[in-house]
Amino acid sequence: MGNQTEWSERKIGQFQSAIIDWFKNEGRHDLPWRTTRDPYAVLVSELMLQQTQVATVLNRGFFENWLSKFPDVETLAAAEEDAILKAWEGLGYYNRARNLQKAAREIVTNHEGRFPTDLETILTLPGVGRYTAGAVYSCAFEKSAPVVDGNVVRIFSRIFGSTSPVDSTAGQKQMWNWAEELVPDQNAREFNSGLMELGQRICRKSNPNCEECPVRPHCSAKQNHMALDELPFKKNRQKIEVKTERVVFLRDGNRVFLTQESGKRRTGLWRLPEISFETAEKMTEIFRMKYGITKYRVDLQIFRGSDLEIANIIGDGQWVSVPEESDACAMAAPYRKALTRLVDNEFTEPDWELKA
Ligand code: SF4
Repeated sequence: MGNQTEWSERKIGQFQSAIIDWFKNEGRHDLPWRTTRDPYAVLVSELMLQQTQVATVLNRGFFENWLSKFPDVETLAAAEEDAILKAWEGLGYYNRARNLQKAAREIVTNHEGRFPTDLETILTLPGVGRYTAGAVYSCAFEKSAPVVDGNVVRIFSRIFGSTSPVDSTAGQKQMWNWAEELVPDQNAREFNSGLMELGQRICRKSNPNCEECPVRPHCSAKQNHMALDELPFKKNRQKIEVKTERVVFLRDGNRVFLTQESGKRRTGLWRLPEISFETAEKMTEIFRMKYGITKYRVDLQIFRGSDLEIANIIGDGQWVSVPEESDACAMAAPYRKALTRLVDNEFTEPDWELKA
């Protein structure tokens, strides 16, 4: 397959109309980020929805909460980092929140607080790549620009029956060329939103609902009985690595001891203090849970030691009251869950035993 679809203009028109009509009739128009044309709000939603499910963002009110705290670029640009991390708590991948603030500062400093209206300038904003710029340009300004996200990659792979690896430069280039060729001059907002929503709801990773698919007549993979679960094809399936995190739970009355992370990904977030394997061996394990982050499957083991031991091993940290101060500390979701569970058990059942 070359870099073009090799479709006639008529066929391209039919494909565009099928997606646009499906979106107009079946799309979720009640989503809060679809009822606004404010480019800043659309940017917020796009960054939230990267790597986070629509249901998570929606059901827990992350989008509305963020806009009530930071309604415009000026407010966000002036906000403290603690406040933005706290508002992002539960969404993960905190660099998205930091990039959002950097973009807001860039707009305030270099664009007099006005969101840029041309695609090239939107692309220069921190944290904004080709997908995000295209999404903001088409959804907020209703102008024509291609978008390629995981949903679009899956649909295109199946529509064109492509077995070229999508995790290669050539494969990515192919996807963008198709997106460029197919995005209409008019109704790009409906087309792009429809394409992505079709990928979420109909052309799903497993068990695609081909019976209700509006572009089924155009789908090469379906017509040629290809194994849909194997598309998009990737040459490097990501391998999951297992790792262990050992931390200590230290309580003094209604206070717990927390430290702040300094790792690249979670800088500034609060957590239970990490301890070495040797130190953990001298302590009692009181709780264990597993969680996933990027390519890691983490076995989180929580220990309790005497105050004396702790004092010798923990460097910087802070005693915080529970729940008042601990609730105000931005914390990665697994640590929030573990802390809540530990505190509930500690405060209500002082002699509780190890629970996995
Ligand atoms: S027919 Fe099936 S596989 Fe093809 S695009 Fe539609 S849902 Fe996806």
